[in-house]
Amino acid sequence: MTKSELNKYRNVLEAKQAELVRLVRNRDGIAIEKSPDAFDEVQHAAERELAIRNLDRESNLLRNIRASLRRIEEGSFGVCLHCEEDISPKRLAAVPWTAFCIRCQEIVDRSQGDSAGNFDEWLVNAA
Ligand SMILES: [Zn+2]
Repeated sequence: MTKSELNKYRNVLEAKQAELVRLVRNRDGIAIEKSPDAFDEVQHAAERELAIRNLDRESNLLRNIRASLRRIEEGSFGVCLHCEEDISPKRLAAVPWTAFCIRCQEIVDRSQGDSAGNFDEWLVNAA
């Protein structure tokens, strides 16, 4: 990968990182609200659960982004952590913080079980 390509990815990752840090810091949806109304209670519980799930994903993504930035510094960015093959440029463009090529990602997803779902796909859809 050329230096200018690396710089491009670094800019994308740093921008995304700043955005996420802001999001995670500003999140106040997890505050526990007590309501006398049973319907409200259910509503709040659902909102809280959603907020926690989002926070979970955002923290995960943030961790991946930080790891990617570290790999840029170390010169191992764009190389699959699992099989050490180059990750395809198309995949990197869609998910610059990925640590795995598409083949290994599928193995990782499967080994994490169904609850993890297809995290990368979710990220792309959410972007
Ligand atoms: Zn791989």
